[in-house]
Amino acid sequence: MPAWFKKTRKPIKTNEQASRVPEGLWVKCPSCGRAIYNKELVESQQVCSKCGHHFRMSAAERLRLLLDGGTWDEHDAGLRSLDPLKFTDTKPYRVRLESSITATGLNDAIIVGSGHLEGMPVVIAAMEYSFIGGSMGVVVGEKITRGGELALAMRAPLIVVSCSGGARMMEGALSLMQMAKISSVLGRLDRAGVPYISILTDPTTGGVTASFAMLGDLNIAEPKALIGFAGPRVIEQTIRQKLPPGFQRSEFLVEKGFLDLVVDRRELKATIARTLRVMMNVAPSPAGPSVAVPTEAPSEASASES
Ligand SMILES: [Zn+2]
Repeated sequence: MPAWFKKTRKPIKTNEQASRVPEGLWVKCPSCGRAIYNKELVESQQVCSKCGHHFRMSAAERLRLLLDGGTWDEHDAGLRSLDPLKFTDTKPYRVRLESSITATGLNDAIIVGSGHLEGMPVVIAAMEYSFIGGSMGVVVGEKITRGGELALAMRAPLIVVSCSGGARMMEGALSLMQMAKISSVLGRLDRAGVPYISILTDPTTGGVTASFAMLGDLNIAEPKALIGFAGPRVIEQTIRQKLPPGFQRSEFLVEKGFLDLVVDRRELKATIARTLRVMMNVAPSPAGPSVAVPTEAPSEASASES
C-alpha cells in the first residue's frame, strides 16, 4: 500500500551550541558582538560585562556559583537510565545516553548537591543542558524527588535550577510521570513549611515549566531567559494570531504575573539568601557578604538628631 505522505526524515536541529562557550580563548557575545576573553567570562560568572548577556552555565558551574566555597556533597550521582522503552530515533537512545555520559562526565541531566548558601544549609538540584537538552527523564525526576525528600529530612530549603527543553521523549510516558512525582514531594515540602525556590534559566520549557519550575514559593528567572510550554511558532499556528514582542521571555512573564522576579546572575546568590532568611526567619549571618544591617543604633548620629 502506497504511503499517503512522503516524509523526509531530518534530525531535529538544536541550537545547543549557540550560546555555549567554545574552547577558544575569545568568545563573541551573541547580543552585543563584543569579543570577550574567556577567562574574563569565567570571572564574571558567564555574564557579558558590556551588555549583561547571560551565557549558559553548566550544572557544576551553577552549584559553584550558589554554594559557599564552591563545594557540595553530591547525592545519587550513580543513577542511570535503563532505556525502558528500548527507544530509537535517528540513533538508539542507549547510544545517545552513552555519548552524553562521556561528553559531560555526568550520568544524567542533573546534579543534586547539599551545601551551604551564605551559611544556611540548602539542597540544590541544577540541570545540565548539554546532556540531551537538559531533558527530564526518570533519572532527573527521581533525583529531584530524592533531593526534595532530603531537604524535608534536613528541614533545609530546596532550590531547583531549571535549564531544560522539557520531558525526555525517549522515555515516553515515564518521563511525564516525573511531573506528578516531583510535584507531590514539593507538596510535602509546602505542608512541612520548608521553602522551595525555583530558578528559571535559559531555556526552561515543556514539562519542566508545566510542573516544578513554576511551583516555587518564589519563581526567579534570569534576564531574557526563554520560558514557556510550547514554542512560539506552535502557539501562533494554533491561535492564528501574531504573538507580541518579547513573548516567553522573563521580563514579559514577570509583567504578566507568571514569575516573581528577574534577577541578574551576579545578584542571584545574595537575593536567594535574603529571601530565605525572611522565609525561615533566620538572622543575617555576620559572615554573609551581602548583609548590611546595623547591629546597633549609631549613637552619635541619634544624639546629634535629638
Ligand atoms: Zn554583550
